[in-house]
Amino acid sequence: AAKDAGKGQYATYDPELDERANYDAQLGAELRLAMDRGDFRLVFQPVVRLPDGVTVGAEALIRWHHPQRGVIPPDEFIPAAERTGLIVPLGAWVLDEACRTAAGWLHEQGATRSWMVSVNISARQLRESGFARRVAAALHTSGLPAARLMIEVTETAVFDSRAATESLNEIAALGVAIALDDFGTGHSSLGLLRNIPVSVLKVDKSFIDHITHSTAEATIATAMVSLANGLDLGVVAEGVESAAQARQLHLMGYRLSQGYHFARPMPAAEVGELLAAQSPESADSNLAA
Ligand code: C2E
Ligand code: MG
Ligand code: MG
Ligand code: MG
Repeated sequence: AAKDAGKGQYATYDPELDERANYDAQLGAELRLAMDRGDFRLVFQPVVRLPDGVTVGAEALIRWHHPQRGVIPPDEFIPAAERTGLIVPLGAWVLDEACRTAAGWLHEQGATRSWMVSVNISARQLRESGFARRVAAALHTSGLPAARLMIEVTETAVFDSRAATESLNEIAALGVAIALDDFGTGHSSLGLLRNIPVSVLKVDKSFIDHITHSTAEATIATAMVSLANGLDLGVVAEGVESAAQARQLHLMGYRLSQGYHFARPMPAAEVGELLAAQSPESADSNLAA
């Protein structure tokens, strides 16, 4: 902070911080307006079983339909929403909307298949007191059974936070599954597995990208699936873009994957059709092991 800086240092004015504060204030105001206008939408990316591509779940991903700038991806506004705290109401909307949508799929098809819907949760949301109650309310209002919901958190969101760990324990007690997202890219990956009630590891795309042409990369991806299998956790390979990757992942022992090779994020109705088109007996595998 400025008062800690020594004499003669220009610490009272940091143009970068100033710019970010302005940027956040502006974007924050726009996000608020967009929430009021209902300019956010969810798309859903199927999570599929290897090797046959049967859909076992879908991840909700937010999109901002900006009246002038068109569709804006989450990486361009989620960080500012986190810094301004707007992620709390926005994330609550995502949770409600995803549960409502998934309850609709269930209603269309009956409960014979074991798919799950997953929702990304930010550190800020997880640390908010009463977050687990919010999850319970989303389930109650939508009628979605707890066993159909998975929340995705990053290692970094949970690391070193008692509040986050408490939220996760409460959420797990509801019967909701917890996935560690972008697994391997955050802090303390392995220690965390002992301390929080995780049921699925989502291996980050960066560990999948080079498995077909790098022995070292293949070794790491193999170690991750063996860790998950040994701990009896589900494991999803993220960002699978080619048939060669899918084949190799299957040989390595991966049973679940997500990526453009199988399906891109799509509107809710298309996921509903995918689920409806699958025969009940083909979807016997469970995302959350
Ligand atoms: P994530 O949770 O790791 O989601 C996976 C991202 O990878 C998605 O990007 C998805 O479209 C993209 N992806 C999936 N398969 C492939 C592939 O084969 N190749 C490539 N290149 N990309 C692939 P998206 O939708 O742009 O989301 C980016 C990140 O934004 C998400 O990463 C998540 O961290 C965050 N996010 C998205 N929606 C929400 C939300 O509702 N709430 C919060 N807090 N964060 C969200
Ligand atoms: Mg995710
Ligand atoms: Mg991820
Ligand atoms: Mg990610």
